[in-house]
Amino acid sequence: MTAVKPLSSVLNRLNLPQLLLIDGELQAASSGKTYEVHDPATGKPIASVAHGASADVDLAVSAARRAFENRRWRGLTAEARSRILLRLADLVEVHAEELAHLDILNNGMPLAMANALAAASAARVRSAAALSSRIYGKNASAAISGNGSEMHAYTAKEPVGVVGLILPWNAPMASFLGKVSTALAAGCTCIVKPAEATPLTALLLGELALEAGVPPGVVNVVHGFGDAGQALVDHPDVDKISFTGSTAVGKQIVRSCADNLKRITLELGGKSANIIFDDADMTVAIPGAAHAIFMNAGQACLAGSRLFVQRRALDTVLEGLSDIAGKIRLGSGFDPETQMGPLVSQRQLERVTGYIEQGRTDGAKLVTGGGRRDGDGYFVEPTIFLDPPADSGIYREEIFGPVLVVKSFDSIDEVVEAANDTRYGLAGGVFTTNVNTAHLVAGQLKTGTVWVNCYGHLHPTMPFGGYKESGWGREIDEQGLEAFLETKSVFVKLNQ
Ligand code: NAP
Ligand code: MG
Repeated sequence: MTAVKPLSSVLNRLNLPQLLLIDGELQAASSGKTYEVHDPATGKPIASVAHGASADVDLAVSAARRAFENRRWRGLTAEARSRILLRLADLVEVHAEELAHLDILNNGMPLAMANALAAASAARVRSAAALSSRIYGKNASAAISGNGSEMHAYTAKEPVGVVGLILPWNAPMASFLGKVSTALAAGCTCIVKPAEATPLTALLLGELALEAGVPPGVVNVVHGFGDAGQALVDHPDVDKISFTGSTAVGKQIVRSCADNLKRITLELGGKSANIIFDDADMTVAIPGAAHAIFMNAGQACLAGSRLFVQRRALDTVLEGLSDIAGKIRLGSGFDPETQMGPLVSQRQLERVTGYIEQGRTDGAKLVTGGGRRDGDGYFVEPTIFLDPPADSGIYREEIFGPVLVVKSFDSIDEVVEAANDTRYGLAGGVFTTNVNTAHLVAGQLKTGTVWVNCYGHLHPTMPFGGYKESGWGREIDEQGLEAFLETKSVFVKLNQ
């Protein structure tokens, strides 16, 4: 199969400066500064991006505030908002190939994954469109005054206001559309801060939102570095921050929001346990465990990065996993045969190879992989370590790369304790043919999501988020919507 070429419309787009989108207008950063973003498969610069900072965040917050207070978005009926979101979903589908190519160029992900994320993102926006007509409170009159004749009391749901949406780089288009569509369904206005490495889809998506009929100022996009994110977090006129990224920055955001008690939703890191029992169907479990860690080159918050295998099955699983890892095709996301792309940046490459070196030094047994691929681009081989020391970095910390650590276990109690022995609590996997084992373990894992005999499924009807240091709150569906709403209780004393 020959490699797909990036669309000429995409390449033409990248020849233009990637501007900020504020109040419906494309504009340069106030400082006039720009920075370069790179294709991680080659390490070469591909676009020049406006380098927004706090002055631009100020302008964007003012625009979002005006758009919130003049009710040009939240004042629409749910049906009108929903129609616009449905139009946005249609436009995402019309531009799916362009969006996928931008994400491949900017993040490095394989074509099949980029296409699947474009389709899933359109579905997510449609689901948000439906959510906008499910915003209603309750009537408690009868509980308060018998038949409700003395007091009419109800709750109303209101959009939380101006929200700052801070995005990670591992699924740029999907995280933009997931956060923005839910915020819009609730009636909020927003400022999006894409990750510095992957801003390219955000601008196109902001333009598509305008084309769909989202009024100017409702979705603003400010590219920039961590200081732009911090400016959003510190801004007194931002009512809520919804953040996806590292636990370290998540904690920093919590500290920063202590002054004015901004609302916060955090979707943070993970070190998720995947558990294979010896009764599992190995034709499902082994590819499942490989997919759990090697999808998107391990750059997934939900990656199954710790694998626990029941002792009798250890050799079979290690052999099967090594075989898969050794055959995974690394390459450009545009090559349809590529199964794993590069890491997103030079910085991430150094971080991941640093962990691999540390793993060797700490005495974990290297089963396969263990190096970067020669040549251009930020490629790292699928890597598996056996028996990492319990206190080692590779066993404890989120690596965010294609690095799996494997340990064996004997009993359910032992593996549940080991799986939960982490500061994270995002997700977990269980492979078994025993229905009792499946439910017992699913019930005992301290994580926001558990997959049984599969790994990594997400759906617009299923909330996603973490226990413990993997975050605060849930995204997706009604719980995700609720996070962009305030509840108001209204008591109306009636004259008899
Ligand atoms: P990060 O620093 O947490 O970045 C996430 C987002 O927050 C980016 O848009 C980032 O901007 C912004 N940001 C950085 N500092 C900020 C601050 N003080 N206030 C507000 N926003 C701020 O993550 P990273 O440095 O890109 O990646 C480091 C590690 O984070 C990864 O190796 C991985 O372990 C973890 N991570 C987790 C997820 C997830 O899905 N849970 C996603 C990405 C990364 P910049 O891009 O300019 O830094
Ligand atoms: Mg960072």
